[in-house]
Amino acid sequence: MTKIALVTGASRGIGRATALLLARQGYAVGVNYLQDAAAARQVVAEIESLGGRALALQADIADEAQVMAMFSALDAGLGTLCALVNNAGILFQQGNIEQLTAERINKVLSTNVTGYFLCCREAVKRMAQRHGGRGGAIVNVSSAASRLGAPGEYVDYAASKGAVDTLTTGLALEVAAQGIRVNAVRPGLIYTEMHASGGEPGRVDRVKDSLPMRRGGQPQEVADIIAWLLSDAASYVTGSFIDAAGGR
Ligand code: NAD
Repeated sequence: MTKIALVTGASRGIGRATALLLARQGYAVGVNYLQDAAAARQVVAEIESLGGRALALQADIADEAQVMAMFSALDAGLGTLCALVNNAGILFQQGNIEQLTAERINKVLSTNVTGYFLCCREAVKRMAQRHGGRGGAIVNVSSAASRLGAPGEYVDYAASKGAVDTLTTGLALEVAAQGIRVNAVRPGLIYTEMHASGGEPGRVDRVKDSLPMRRGGQPQEVADIIAWLLSDAASYVTGSFIDAAGGR
């Protein structure tokens, strides 16, 4: 039976690498995107060219109605999911707390926290009903910032990822008996467009010499961990965190 996964924010970056890897491992993949339909269609086309199945699903994860519609479209188009990768997230380089506006804080929290909660809720509803107690697995993409706090840069983003970590711990315990595993990966500095869209292109290169491994990470190096956490090889792992931060 085909395994079905949903990856949020899968049109680029870590989400894209994860969607392609899961497809290569035999999953049919829901490719969520916010705005870039052409890029999402490209991911779907790449998966189809590998002989896999995929569906582009537009939704703002911060919007409850859109999330519910996305899960319904996934049910109808591919079937009931057994894997969710909560990956879509945003960051703004903001400097000190004096520069933070309520609008920015709410934007970050609604995507990085509310969005993760909503997708977890819809996934758990479905995974809990899968036959034979097979449940499923969720991976939340957190950040090294949840431990480091990102002072002077983006404390709102760091706090949002702290909430993702607590969600991971609590939900893992809440749904463990239903055969659903919930884990998180905490990337460090990864070469994606997040830093450019957050206001600092070239950030990874600027700081890479201060990192223990003297380099930034590649999206694939995070995707590999996500795929492992979703797999049966991690069948006794839940409520756990894996840092993919080059020792940071
Ligand atoms: P990215 O900006 O390339 O990708 C993020 C994706 O999420 C984009 O496609 C964007 O359109 C999508 N997205 C944003 N808001 C959305 C919304 N409301 N609804 C649906 N989709 C939305 O960045 P990335 O680095 O690939 O980020 C993926 C995850 O990794 C994020 O959760 C991020 O916080 C985390 N992360 C990244 C780094 C890094 O250095 N790149 C480090 C730590 C954690």
